[in-house]
Amino acid sequence: MVVDHIIPLAAGSASDIENLCLACYRCNEFKSARLDAPDPVSGDMIPLFNPHTQAWHDHFTWSEDGLRVVGRTACGRATIEALRLNDDWLVRARRIWILVGLHPPLE
Ligand SMILES: [Zn+2]
Repeated sequence: MVVDHIIPLAAGSASDIENLCLACYRCNEFKSARLDAPDPVSGDMIPLFNPHTQAWHDHFTWSEDGLRVVGRTACGRATIEALRLNDDWLVRARRIWILVGLHPPLE
């Protein structure tokens, strides 16, 4: 895990605890200095999910087979696309995690 600036330093933020969260290296790299991303449904630019001010279950859920994150909102969909949360590598990893009982995460 790495420490991510929710609002990037490049956007004028600070390293205050309210602006920091843990992210896996991969997500942090794909997020980079982004603040928003296009919603794949509307094309509108939507602020990325903020883990301090938003609840995961309001914006995301798991597909029935547990392999893919599904966006419930424009924010969820934009974040999934920006962070590539359903790319082939992650879907293959989740398939293995399901087989050994590690996925999907418990509530
Ligand atoms: Zn991640």
